[in-house]
Amino acid sequence: MERSPALGRLVDGFGRRFHYLRLSVTEVCNFRCTYCLPDGFKKSGPLTFLTPEECGRVAGAFADLGVSKVRLTGGEPSVRRDLPEIIARTAATPGVDKVCITTNGWNLERQIGAWRDAGLTNLNVSIDSLDRAGFHRITGHDRLESVVRGLDRALELGLPTVKVNGVLLRDGVGDGFDAFAAFVRERPVAVRFIELMRTGDNAEYFADQHVPGSVLTDWLAARGWTRRDRAFDDGPAVEFIHPDHAGRIGLIAPYAPGFCDGCNRLRVTARGQLRLCLFGELGVDLKDLLEKDEPEALRARIVRALAGKPRGHRLHEANSGDTRQLAQFGG
Ligand code: SAM
Ligand code: SF4
Repeated sequence: MERSPALGRLVDGFGRRFHYLRLSVTEVCNFRCTYCLPDGFKKSGPLTFLTPEECGRVAGAFADLGVSKVRLTGGEPSVRRDLPEIIARTAATPGVDKVCITTNGWNLERQIGAWRDAGLTNLNVSIDSLDRAGFHRITGHDRLESVVRGLDRALELGLPTVKVNGVLLRDGVGDGFDAFAAFVRERPVAVRFIELMRTGDNAEYFADQHVPGSVLTDWLAARGWTRRDRAFDDGPAVEFIHPDHAGRIGLIAPYAPGFCDGCNRLRVTARGQLRLCLFGELGVDLKDLLEKDEPEALRARIVRALAGKPRGHRLHEANSGDTRQLAQFGG
């Protein structure tokens, strides 16, 4: 939606501008990804997450400050029955022109039509393996075929952007890359691998499964894939194209030098806390102002908090802040 001129600008102490918000709508998840929630979601405390109205207020405050892209994430956003309403409120926010979701694809087949009708523009589906048994092993669910059908349905519906997120795992190198290259031969989707990040809970798994992104880029270069020019709001992914393939393959490398210099995103958790860095400490509580609907005070608190945004994460020092797993704050 079009907006009136922004009421402020989100610029931090290092001159970085923020036009992208990741809004977590739940901590709950129905998958058990080996690197994230290997024992499944465990309830701790009451599950009181932002209401659709409060989500709309978050989107409104950030849009007033110049944010134009909002990604709904979690936990697994699709476990919320009121997700279409959250999408609709976000899409109706003046200034927001991209409403995105990151989902594990559970029930995507059934839900994508309603999400699209509510105003969803960008779909990211997480698929770490295209081997049925491998997918089952990683997620705890034998649902690969249904997830892929959901993604294909989104393509049929003509959603403006459809992407796949995969975590780069040692077990997926080689045959796994072959399978994803075949997957994008006809499909016009970008598959973006992200280097496995170490969190508070996954140190042992990280030591076993982390491989550097160069494993993928070397593999691509050896098979004739070339680097694509970057678009303005591409985010941190570097993407590769090949004349025989309709889709693209990309890499997000959070361990690469300078990764945080281009940071353009802020996060709000499902409990209404502003997180300045995915791997930071604590958050700035916005919940009281969201409950009372005080947009001016909300904007002022967000702008003030931004001054405290750190230059970068400290993953290189094996320091994940207070992030035990990414489901906790929205990856
Ligand atoms: N449940 C949804 C999903 O899986 O798409 C959204 C939340 S999930 C935390 C967001 C993304 O973070 C997923 O693509 C997931 O694969 C990725 N992720 C989770 N833990 C990760 C880790 N330790 N390192 C890298 N990526 C991770
Ligand atoms: Fe759930 Fe997503 Fe974490 Fe997998 S990565 S356990 S789907 S929150």
